[in-house]
Amino acid sequence: MARKLIAGNWKMNGLSADGTALASALADRLEAGPAPSCDLLVCPPAPLLPLIKQAIGSATIAVGGQDCHAKESGAHTGDLSARLLADVGCSHVIVGHSERRSDHGESSADVKAKAEAAMVAGLVPIICVGETEEDRNAGRALTVIQDQIERSLPEAGSNAGAFVVAYEPVWAIGTGKTATPQDVAEVHRAIHTLLQAGFGEATAAATNILYGGSVKPDNAAELMAVEQVGGALVGGASLKAEDFWAIARSCP
Ligand code: PEP
Repeated sequence: MARKLIAGNWKMNGLSADGTALASALADRLEAGPAPSCDLLVCPPAPLLPLIKQAIGSATIAVGGQDCHAKESGAHTGDLSARLLADVGCSHVIVGHSERRSDHGESSADVKAKAEAAMVAGLVPIICVGETEEDRNAGRALTVIQDQIERSLPEAGSNAGAFVVAYEPVWAIGTGKTATPQDVAEVHRAIHTLLQAGFGEATAAATNILYGGSVKPDNAAELMAVEQVGGALVGGASLKAEDFWAIARSCP
């Protein structure tokens, strides 16, 4: 498996002063060392991207978008193209976050189109999937996830390591509830198997499968030690440099 990736999704939080302070604090920690054994990524609100790049300076922290449009350009008021994100220095973009799927009615077909557009633009899409509490209680978590994986991921091709999958149980996002390591292991194994079947061994082995959903400094080590967990997508705890850093440092 590739190095683990710890990605911070800042969502619609913070103004320019908060974002630059947070990015600078992370860059300072990285410079002071010891460096974590994982890669770091922050996904700030889009207007802050150039400022955050500047605040990070030469520190090895990647920057990503929180969403992109499937089209290269055109009459899509308020949307952002993957090319523009790449142009302002992004290496990654989150697509299909459950908040986009629920707030904006995005289907898995929409997510797939966005993921493919991101890859064409040279970005690594972080493709989110995850079941609702209702799905899990009804015993259909794995069926829902399989359906999302089959419909949201790009067409198979020569794409080893070109995308990341994030398993984010919807009921664990921002709630303080976390999936058990056993449940995470079961879902990540299932996703890995689907990747092997759909994309082949090399792509499956090179694809990070992140866990997301109330990852905090006090549960990160346990979650990051689970087999097939290739890192974390972190919401709330990514807004505090100390917590995000502690999560990154807990990677084995
Ligand atoms: C997220 O929004 O991707 C997320 C995992 O949020 P939180 O860590 O706050 O649960």
